[in-house]
Amino acid sequence: MQTVVAQWYDPNPRIFSKAQRGHTTLLFGGLTAMHDGLIKAAMSALGYRLQVLPCPDRDALQYGKEFGNRGQCNPTYFTVGNLIKYLIQLRDVEGLSREQIVNDYLFVTAGACGPCRFGMYVTEYRKALRDAGFGGFRVLLFENAGSLHQSESNTGLELTTGFFITLLKAAMLGDMVNAMGYRIRPYEIVAGSTDAAMEECRTLLCAALRKRRGLRHALRLCRRRLAAVEVDRLQAKPKVSIIGEFWAMTTEGEGNYQLQRFLETEGAECEIQAVVSWVLYSIWEAAYDIRERMLLRSEQPTGRRRWEFAPLKQLLLLRLGRGVLKHYFYRYARHIGLAGYQLPDMDELARIGHDYYANELRGGEGHMEVAKLIQGVTLHKVHLTLSIKPFGCLPSSGVSDGVQSLVTARYPEANFLAVETTGDGAINVHSRVQMALFRARQNAEDEYQTALQTAGIDGGQATARLAAQRRCRQATHYPPHRVAGTAANLLYELAQRPWPQRLAGGR
Ligand code: SF4
Repeated sequence: MQTVVAQWYDPNPRIFSKAQRGHTTLLFGGLTAMHDGLIKAAMSALGYRLQVLPCPDRDALQYGKEFGNRGQCNPTYFTVGNLIKYLIQLRDVEGLSREQIVNDYLFVTAGACGPCRFGMYVTEYRKALRDAGFGGFRVLLFENAGSLHQSESNTGLELTTGFFITLLKAAMLGDMVNAMGYRIRPYEIVAGSTDAAMEECRTLLCAALRKRRGLRHALRLCRRRLAAVEVDRLQAKPKVSIIGEFWAMTTEGEGNYQLQRFLETEGAECEIQAVVSWVLYSIWEAAYDIRERMLLRSEQPTGRRRWEFAPLKQLLLLRLGRGVLKHYFYRYARHIGLAGYQLPDMDELARIGHDYYANELRGGEGHMEVAKLIQGVTLHKVHLTLSIKPFGCLPSSGVSDGVQSLVTARYPEANFLAVETTGDGAINVHSRVQMALFRARQNAEDEYQTALQTAGIDGGQATARLAAQRRCRQATHYPPHRVAGTAANLLYELAQRPWPQRLAGGR
């Protein structure tokens, strides 16, 4: 007798109708505080009630481990545990009943079908929610690999083109303010002045996003506010690129041992990755796969490829989307004063990474991590590359432990350190970073001395020259790239600028 096997089915409660929108709070989070704040403002303009979850901490990790499956990657524990922690707080501290929480709140997150655990996040959320006593709590997904038309007629979360454009706009602005902050903060003269200016920028941009107008004016006000921060960029500081798994390199909390702030307190300048880069990577992935599919033989008896219009149209749309995204990014960047900032060229990264990591391999950062390390070395972009790889991460471990060893063997000048984030052992990680920083600091200092010799001036004369160049002194000014160090780049720039006659004796 044939046995009928009942397949496992995940009854994901996803009901969120338009009528519920007014009394339902959408919880979200997971990017930087700047991104989350701007996204909240932008979404409130579309009629959503959003609440940002706090940055995941070690308590969140503990909740994740308690209620999650065994053998998950570290970001899963942190992010799932963070939601559980928040709901428990709503129940035990704010006194909401389980029914109120389940009916009036839901969680929105990105999702994807992928070879790593990212594809299973939503299932993991639901398992943990059920075990923590919040069975039936809704987790809504918008797929990063989906189209811009994921909306259904009566859904409360309308994933329309307008929704994604608003989201992208907020993400872009978050990238820009953060990038400005990381350029300015290491050189600020008054401690805390950059953070204060960034906070004002956030308020200005949130107001513009809520009103859905006046963004250009707000960006210009931000530029003025940031330019007013006093800086001294004639300090030779090591520049450190932070790459690795998306969440682990983006979070600003205990998920990566607060590495960005730690590096800055150790005297480094951080180069972080833009969230928009991930969108560009998704576009690249989609276009690459379409091109690969176009090479497949058709099922026609001749075996010849059939000329099809649909994929060409899709490629054209993707190209257009990428162009529009870059256009707006650079336009906003100009208004806020983010000079010389370049979004990564995904085709170039794919070409560079291909010899080491097949472009077809997906999950995590794919070939990007390898390519970024090589670019950092060959283009003299940074003094140290830190790769953040979460404990239990399949793609990141494979890349950092395996492929990057080959890269560093072929590029011995690379100063590369892969750090594994488990949530524990912060002191161990920090001391390893300090050791790698020692060499980076020396390289930055050597570069600075070489720049002084090339310019034929000493430190005192460099200061005098900078004092005479009002524009170069501004916090929003960033010297053109020539070597990795910002101070050395500034020296090269000063050397090329005309030296006022009345000060010529100072040379
Ligand atoms: S890339 Fe790694 S850390 Fe990130 S979701 Fe996938 S397995 Fe987890």
